[in-house]
Amino acid sequence: MARTDTSQTAPFLQRYVMEAVPRYTSYPPATRFHDGVGEADWASWMDGQTTRPVLSLYVHIPFCKTMCWYCGCNTTVPNKDDRIARYLDALDAEIANRPVPADGIVNHIHFGGGSPDMLSPERFGRIMDAFRARFEITANAEIAVELDPRGVTEELAAALAQAGVTRASLGVQDLSPEVQNLIHRIQPAETVARAAMRLRRAGIHAINMDIMYGLPAQTVERVEATARAVADMGADRVSVFGYAHVPWFKKHQRAIPEDRLPGARERFDQMQAASACLKESGYDAIGFDHFARPDDSLARAARAGRLRRNFQGYTDDPYDVLIGYGASSISEARQGYIQNLTDPARYAAAIEAGEPVLVRGLTRTEEECETGARIARLLCDFQVEAGADGFDPDALADMMADGLVEVDGDMLRVTHAGRSYVRNIAARIDPAFQAAANQHSQAV
Ligand code: SF4
Repeated sequence: MARTDTSQTAPFLQRYVMEAVPRYTSYPPATRFHDGVGEADWASWMDGQTTRPVLSLYVHIPFCKTMCWYCGCNTTVPNKDDRIARYLDALDAEIANRPVPADGIVNHIHFGGGSPDMLSPERFGRIMDAFRARFEITANAEIAVELDPRGVTEELAAALAQAGVTRASLGVQDLSPEVQNLIHRIQPAETVARAAMRLRRAGIHAINMDIMYGLPAQTVERVEATARAVADMGADRVSVFGYAHVPWFKKHQRAIPEDRLPGARERFDQMQAASACLKESGYDAIGFDHFARPDDSLARAARAGRLRRNFQGYTDDPYDVLIGYGASSISEARQGYIQNLTDPARYAAAIEAGEPVLVRGLTRTEEECETGARIARLLCDFQVEAGADGFDPDALADMMADGLVEVDGDMLRVTHAGRSYVRNIAARIDPAFQAAANQHSQAV
């Protein structure tokens, strides 16, 4: 098999690769959320919205059939169906009762998890009915759902299409049997291809696939083979995520054999190889970890300068307010962020008892909104104009010397070599950044 041409990839610079920096899926980062923000704040934020705000809805389904050892999501393996039923009742109540802008208009809905394919067609339809009862949803709204390929039956694909789903994301990770065995996620390539085929046949044509690097027993060759396979399966978008090994926080990750984990250099090479392979396969690179076919809406948004960054990574969703429902969901308005209780059982119990579920977050100052907007532009466009105070040349001097950034008057530009380090660069223009290895993930 021909090797991917990696001659144009970025140099490996250990000090940046090892630096712990925020993912900047929010600003300020979620590590600064605190419990001084609650339901009353959310209600006042909703009262303060403009006329006809554009809304995006996120709903979290924290259930999976089995646990993958690498999982970093907020999910559980329910031993009884009652747990799912109780959670869905709570979700219904939250959707019906939570304050929302009275005249908002929804053009994006995202089902995340966990594995939303754990829902029966009836239960999925029930959530959509609750949304339709509460919100005005545009006719061309994107309705996206994350799916475990192993759970995509013909019946489910048909039900999702019937409910209006327009885009599906399939978790692929790595197709090598040895890696799949070590991460406790056995799904041969045929399983993924069959899931994509069922979804397309049902009428859901936009298919995303997620792949990973840094998993146990992964090699550059295995990552390349997986990247090539998802391209061959016709994925419209591919996200390439690095495995974050945090067994002190995610206890099931203790089952991952640490002596099989790739080191920093190997992780970097795997990430670069996936990127080079996807670009050779005709994908546009979007930001630092997404890839999209040139005709996909994310690639079009990137070309038009409309790309945004939020908790799902890169998005073309143009919302004013993001409303997150369910355990651990994070909501966003210009005024700040607010998060629901993370434990699904505690979330359901709180809803039943009429107690608050919006329990932590932060309010944003005007200055933080501006810094967040500048960091988002840097991560999305690889260039950004200086704020009122300009750039601090001392903060960027080593990166300029390393050829990662160029400052041209008021404009900071990330070079081709600097793209892999754009999170590190963002941290240098983040006045509040304080390196804390236990709070942020490794840059690559
Ligand atoms: S299917 Fe996804 S959410 Fe569920 S355990 Fe595996 S990685 Fe985690």
